[in-house]
Formats: sequence, C-alpha cells, structure tokens
Amino acid sequence: MENIKKHNFGAGPCILPQSVLEEAASAVVNWNNIDLSILEVSHRSPEFESVISRTGLLVRELLKVPEDYTVLFMQGGASTQFSMIPQSFLKTKGLYLDTGYFAQKAIKEALFFGDTEIIASSADKNYNYIPDIQSHHTNADYLHITSNNTIEGTEIFNWPDMGVPLICDMSSDIFSREIRIRDFDLIYAGAQKNMGPAGMTMVIVKNKLLDSIDKPLPSMSDYRVYRDNQSLYNTPPVFSIYVSMLNLLWLKNNGGVSGIEKQNIKKAKLLYAEIDRNTLFRGNAAIAHRSRMNVTFQAVEPTHEQEFLDFAAKRGMIGIKGYRTVGGFRASLYNALSLQSVQALVKTMQEFEILRQP
Ligand code: PLP
Repeated sequence: MENIKKHNFGAGPCILPQSVLEEAASAVVNWNNIDLSILEVSHRSPEFESVISRTGLLVRELLKVPEDYTVLFMQGGASTQFSMIPQSFLKTKGLYLDTGYFAQKAIKEALFFGDTEIIASSADKNYNYIPDIQSHHTNADYLHITSNNTIEGTEIFNWPDMGVPLICDMSSDIFSREIRIRDFDLIYAGAQKNMGPAGMTMVIVKNKLLDSIDKPLPSMSDYRVYRDNQSLYNTPPVFSIYVSMLNLLWLKNNGGVSGIEKQNIKKAKLLYAEIDRNTLFRGNAAIAHRSRMNVTFQAVEPTHEQEFLDFAAKRGMIGIKGYRTVGGFRASLYNALSLQSVQALVKTMQEFEILRQP
C-alpha cells in the first residue's frame, strides 16, 4: 500500500506531538526505569505526587495563574462542569451566552438548578457568529461563556464584562493563545484538545468564588474537596495527567503559549486565506469571529462535498468532515498540528480547484 503521510485535522479527542506520544508509550511499558508502568504506580506514591504537582506548576507557569487562583484536576469531562457550576454558584440567576452546541448543553444542565437567562444567542444564524451583549444585569451570580465553539467554528476575542463573575468553557482553545486569568473567575476545560488525553478536566478557579459556596455538597461535586485534597480525594486519571505533563513540557520548550499562539495565527490565516480565495469553497463563520482552532467551511457546489472529502482522503487528510449539525468541512488546527499539514491542505484545495474548473 502506498505510504501517504497523514495529516490529522480531527476535532479530537486528542492530537499530540510525536515526541510526547513516544515518551508516553515508553512510560506505559517501563516508567523512569523503575520496572513499573505509569499505569501501575500508586497515585499516592511520591513519584505520582510529583507528577501531579509538576503538572499544576506547569499550568500555573504557562498561563501565568495568579496566587489567589486554584488549579484543580477532576474527571467527568467538561460536561460535568455544566452541572457542577450551577449546583455550586447559582443562587439567584445564572446568565448564559448561547453560542452553539456546547453552550446549549451547559444551559440545559443549569435549568436543573435555578433561574437561567440567555442574555444573547446566535441561534438565528446557525451559530455562525458571536452575539453582542447589550444589557447589564447586576443581580446575577455569574455569566457563562464558551470561548471557542468547537462545532460551529467561532471564537470569542473580547471578553464580556458584566460586573458578575465570568465563567468560561475553554475546552477547545485553552493553551492555544494568551489569556489574562484575572479576566475570569472560573475556567474549565476537558483536557482532550490541547492538553492531553481524554479523562481529566482542568479547572482554574478564583479562591474568592470558591469561598462563596455556602452549602454542603456531595464530595465528588464539591470543588472545595478537590482543593483540600490537592485533586487526590479519589483516584485521579493518572495517565491523562501524566501525558498532560509531558505535553505541557513540550509546549514550554516550544515557545510557551505566546509562541504557539503565533504559530496558531499563522496556520489559521493561511487556511482562511485559501477558503476566501478558492472559488469552490466558502467559510461559515463571520470573519471577525472565525475560530483559530476549528475552521469550518462549505463547498459552494453541494455535489463537491463528498468529492472533496474523497480527494482529500487520498492525499492523507483525516478528520475534515464537518459535524452533522453544520455539515461541510471542519479542519481543527490544534497546537500539535503542524504548519506543514495546513500547507498540505491548502495545496489539496488548490489542486481540487484546478481539477474541477472547466
Ligand atoms: N465544551 C466544548 C467547547 C467542547 O469542545 C467539548 C468537547 O469537545 C465539551 C465541552 C464537552 O467535553 P467533554 O466531552 O469532556 O464532556
């Protein structure tokens, strides 16, 4: 069989640099030459405690997390945060910005816990833009936003300031660009895009917000229990945390968040420029809100959709089929995806145009 280099534009669960995969693979067999797999080492051992604390320190260093914020490693995916947040913080009203599929899921869970208000929505245009926030509410407990809409391909670049705690689902763009942690009161992210394998969820929370919880909660739903036990109240997702540590070390050694952001801007610009130039394709998202992580686009001529998927597959492009609610194509450009892969996709689009033009 012909050996074609694969370019993985899949939206996840997880894309990692080759060197990280290799080190993780060797640790599964024999970690640090101690004749034990990383999967077998006790999570209470000093060796694993040093892994989890090093991972926390790397998060703090790479994202410049201030002292009065706590970093937690949890399980249950970002989807568990959808309910834990209102369960912990919703007293009067939770405000939600409705920007797509995952924002909708967060809203659905909040409705179990109390008064929930959608302050703005882009549902009218199949979520292809980030809506403006007009009104000011002061009687709410928090505003929940989704910084990057993985399925629709939009991203927030200006953080809203409503005068209430800002809570953000950063599952699909954490570590892809510089952020100022102080702009947020709680950030959460499933590990599986830019951090590590699925299984761990990271939460960065301002201590003041944690201290505002004024009721008893079941242990596994209580952020304070995770904080008081250094994320080791129960068995943590050891492998996901370990590989996240390796990946964050890779990020640190490759220019950190500011370095990767420059690369991510370059990759996204290159692909969007081709989408805008090529007569066979058009982008989905409003230009000002185009995601750098998940680039969504369509074939102008619907019959070209499957043809292009087949054409691209033969050239080693994987995972570019759009999500079923949006259709078309989605190219995910996570941190570990190289500029060379984006160049290869652009070339494929150009060759397809030449082939299809009369
Ligand atoms: N939020 C966003 C923005 C996502 O992209 C995803 C998954 O891709 C989720 C939430 C759900 O995450 P999980 O599968 O970890 O629950």
